[in-house]
Amino acid sequence: MPNLKSKMTKFRSIFWHRRDLRIEDNIGLFEASKNSKTLVGAYILDPNLLNLNKTTSEAKNWFLGESLLELQRNWESRGSRLLILNGDPIKLISKLANLIKAECIYWNENIEPYEINRDKQIKNQLLKEKRKVYTFLDQLIVNPVNIKTNNEEPYKVYGPFYRKWIDIINRTNLLENSLILVPSTPAKISDLGDREISLIKNSDINYCITKKSQVVYNLISSNRFNNSNLCPCKPGESNSKKQLNFFIHSGIINSYDQARDIPSLESTSTLSAALSLGTISCRAVWNGSQISKKNATDEYQTNSIDIWIKELAWREFYQNALFNFPELEKGPYRKKWFNFPWGNRTDWFEAWENGFTGIPIIDASMRQLKNSGWMHNRCRMIVASFLVKDLLIDWRWGESFFMKNLVDGDLASNNGGWQWSASSGMDPKPLRIFNPFRQASKFDENGTYIRKWIPELSHISTSDLLSGEIISAERKDYPKPIINHKIQTSIFKELYSSIN
Ligand SMILES: Cc1cc2nc3c(=O)[nH]c(=O)nc-3n(C[C@H](O)[C@H](O)[C@H](O)COP(=O)(O)OP(=O)(O)OC[C@H]3O[C@@H](n4cnc5c(N)ncnc54)[C@H](O)[C@@H]3O)c2cc1C
Repeated sequence: MPNLKSKMTKFRSIFWHRRDLRIEDNIGLFEASKNSKTLVGAYILDPNLLNLNKTTSEAKNWFLGESLLELQRNWESRGSRLLILNGDPIKLISKLANLIKAECIYWNENIEPYEINRDKQIKNQLLKEKRKVYTFLDQLIVNPVNIKTNNEEPYKVYGPFYRKWIDIINRTNLLENSLILVPSTPAKISDLGDREISLIKNSDINYCITKKSQVVYNLISSNRFNNSNLCPCKPGESNSKKQLNFFIHSGIINSYDQARDIPSLESTSTLSAALSLGTISCRAVWNGSQISKKNATDEYQTNSIDIWIKELAWREFYQNALFNFPELEKGPYRKKWFNFPWGNRTDWFEAWENGFTGIPIIDASMRQLKNSGWMHNRCRMIVASFLVKDLLIDWRWGESFFMKNLVDGDLASNNGGWQWSASSGMDPKPLRIFNPFRQASKFDENGTYIRKWIPELSHISTSDLLSGEIISAERKDYPKPIINHKIQTSIFKELYSSIN
């Protein structure tokens, strides 16, 4: 992190929030508040990232809108404002800086290709206008630029990546006392004057400066996500902190090793949306894991915590992968997959997305997603394998459907998860095929999860639920299986060998 203090006198600044919807432990905001005379926050609802047909979901917009309202209150409680603008950031950031005569603009960087290109243009424009731009890396524990193999190349395999990642953390002690406190006194984060406010009000900038937060209310009120009570990810900085504390202090983390794979249990942190939109910092979750480790009483607990840390590393691995190989966004890492002769039957895809394939574990999982905006990790792997290796449908259809429905939809993790499941990614084990019936028997042995999400099957015996062999008299409107797993996967294997 650059030492700004020595170089700077105090200026009027803007801090631009993006995937860091929090005040606490925010590197860029900390630097901005330390080095500015007057500081306001900005958030821009970028239409390219709010496209419900492509880049986001109703559930994610709900999480975003509610988190922004809290963030706005947090800025006000510190004596300043968060301006929420709606439109193209390339135009708006410079316009806003011009209106309020901000000399410096601060933000935390993102790793997605669209944002990297967009930010380059914005930075160039601001520099042309003779403003100062300060950017930081805040959303990952270890900066991707610092994780390289001995040959100075980016890692392509998770195992060695993880070993290097944990080694860097341990060697540099980089997280000790790392939680950054943004000063809470109004003197540090101070407000715009009346003149600037009236300038903004009278400008053509599509602004939101009143407490009514109109653009955010529009985002929330036009939202058709009605099941926020079923969604385990709760929006806002304070909820994220509560969720982390609960996961750590209730001891759920201590039994993560086995419980994490049972979708009927609430045994994971459900912090994925918080980490993706930054209502909590990656350092805070790391520090949570370290507190748990100090209090662990046996090897099983320590091991469970280490396994959870490995999941945090998966998140960083996929972000590193996308940062170093932006082409992943467009398609398979293994090029031969471009030649795979997909079946792409739309009737099968519709059955899959609506939870009507006739295979209970698949349908329960897809209904969990549709109803709650979230799906358990084990189930994400099962339905992804099924779409590709049983239904022979291009994994990119599934990837896109997930982005349009997940509350935690995140390009890097979603693309990574789909390429892992499709066997088209960097993973060295190319042909992983999940048998949905075996998966159900192992991870939902009493059928609790299936019964929860498919209530019309609640009267069916557990063994029939797990095998999917439900007689038609008992099935009523629930369909019979649309495919035969054995036949489909043997077709898949044949097709796969044809592209080698
Ligand atoms: C096909 C597929 C698609 C996925 N899409 C997404 C997505 O869009 N957004 C997303 O955040 N995760 C995605 N995942 C990863 C994983 O399923 C979720 O992160 C996890 O289920 C979130 O639950 P949790 O917060 O309780 O996780 P926990 O088990 O508590 O793990 C803690 C954190 O580690 C990270 N993490 C855990 N597992 C993984 C993983 N396999 N890959 C990357 N990060 C991980 C998440 O940030 C998570 O919040 C996907 C996985 C698959 C197989």
